[in-house]
Amino acid sequence: MVPGVRYAPVIRPGRLPVIELPDTEVAEPDRAAEAGRFRAAATAVTERLRARADRATGAAAEVLGATATLAQDRAWLGAADKRIAAGAPAVRAVSEAVDQFIDMFTKMGGLMAERVTDLRDIRDRVVAELSGYPEPGVPLPELPSILCATDLAPADTAGLDPELVVGLATTLGGPTSHTAIIARQLGIPCVVAVSGLDDIEAGRMVLLDGTAGTVTADPDPSEAATAVDAARRSAATARNWHGPGATGDGHAVAIMANVADGAAARAARETPAEGIGLFRTELCFLNRDTEPTVAEQAAIYGEVLDAFSGAKVVIRTLDAGSDKPLKFAGHPPEEANPALGVRGIRIAEANPGLLEHQLDAIADAAENTRSAPWVMAPMIATPDEAKRFAAQVRSRGLTPGVMVEVPAAALLAEQILDHVDFLSIGTNDLAQYTMAADRMSAELAALTDPWQPAVLALVGTAARAGAAADKPVGVCGEAAADPLLACVLVGLGVTSLSAAAAAIPSVGAKLATVTVQQCREAARAVLATAGPAEARAAALGILT
Ligand code: PEP
Ligand code: MG
Repeated sequence: MVPGVRYAPVIRPGRLPVIELPDTEVAEPDRAAEAGRFRAAATAVTERLRARADRATGAAAEVLGATATLAQDRAWLGAADKRIAAGAPAVRAVSEAVDQFIDMFTKMGGLMAERVTDLRDIRDRVVAELSGYPEPGVPLPELPSILCATDLAPADTAGLDPELVVGLATTLGGPTSHTAIIARQLGIPCVVAVSGLDDIEAGRMVLLDGTAGTVTADPDPSEAATAVDAARRSAATARNWHGPGATGDGHAVAIMANVADGAAARAARETPAEGIGLFRTELCFLNRDTEPTVAEQAAIYGEVLDAFSGAKVVIRTLDAGSDKPLKFAGHPPEEANPALGVRGIRIAEANPGLLEHQLDAIADAAENTRSAPWVMAPMIATPDEAKRFAAQVRSRGLTPGVMVEVPAAALLAEQILDHVDFLSIGTNDLAQYTMAADRMSAELAALTDPWQPAVLALVGTAARAGAAADKPVGVCGEAAADPLLACVLVGLGVTSLSAAAAAIPSVGAKLATVTVQQCREAARAVLATAGPAEARAAALGILT
């Protein structure tokens, strides 16, 4: 998906008319000429694609060049030649040969399957050329329009004029399909894999939201215009926001990144992230059969510390179990309710070595990189667990904290803070456990919405405990990635936010437009609501 909101009429690409494939045979003496006709058509299509590649730049040029190369690929040309030699007319030979490769690519899955669009495109162009039809493709609109299609050939996408085609939506396609790649390069908001799109005819008005991934037909025109305007303004301010995080009246709130490894940390360094608020260490070892050695772990942790040397880095100890089992963690076999089972810090009970080795590795990495990371445990439910964890962390000269993901930990945050130096609220799990709703369930997504007032009430409880103890309380769940909700979290007393690096500019930019007083007012209003929709509306009323 490519972010951005657009409101415009729909255009649809021209299609090749349905061509009945001839079931006749070409007489033996005419087959050489038929083969020549086929090769000439394939060459003409290739040359046109190459000419467009030469006129384009960057990714568009690369993609057009790749399509041209595929149009001259010996494997499929040979398969068509073979069919023509056996008597098939060129049009049928092309269709059958390409279909054979489409089948093969689809079975291979992944990136290969996404290249199927390129193959279909080549087939249609060559068939049009052979049949004397104009080359299929995108019409040139007179007004700025949104191009909707079942699928779009990269060659069509690459030639688009972003002034005239202001949005793109396809029924098919994956996040790495060429259509999305080129749309991003051209700066055209784009949504792929949209259901119901085929029912929207050319000429109808649609509102395309590349951030939400939606296409709405015939929306209320003034609401649509407002949505476009708001998105345009916030995109412009997010681009210009460079940190550090603070409300408009100067109340500082560090905005940090969630990462899974050294590469992600280095990428986050390119954003205004002020540090790492959550390093999910278990994600480094999902495909490991055996426990990584202390030295191996120290090297991996060191990469993240190096990327943010001199800045704050919060390393979380292994949160194995539930949806993130680790083969070497010694999970009990076949738990009936793994999300309520032995996960996170609970693993240390039966396998204390695992936690000790990891803390040793973090201490080694800290020494090697001359940094002072904070270390936190996931799934803490009791003050006693926090006390034991803190002692182990302190004995290695590191700063201990815990995650607040279990309602019990939020309710007893004060006692927990007697033992640790900071809290970090994981709103993803806190919502799951507060609402008794599996965070993986699409059916229960309304219950696990981080705007649930009950979840936010627990955030407030933990933040108040932090203020009383004069210790930091951050949020590192997805809630921190929602700019409006981030302001509410600040109003609840949260002292730092950590989110996916991509969300940081919009969160920072939004926070800079409000005062801490507005945030507090919004927090109060949200806590008085009965559900997520009402909570969002209340916050929107105060924070815009
Ligand atoms: C959370 O639960 O909010 C959290 C940040 O941890 P994870 O998503 O890794 O469970
Ligand atoms: Mg969690």
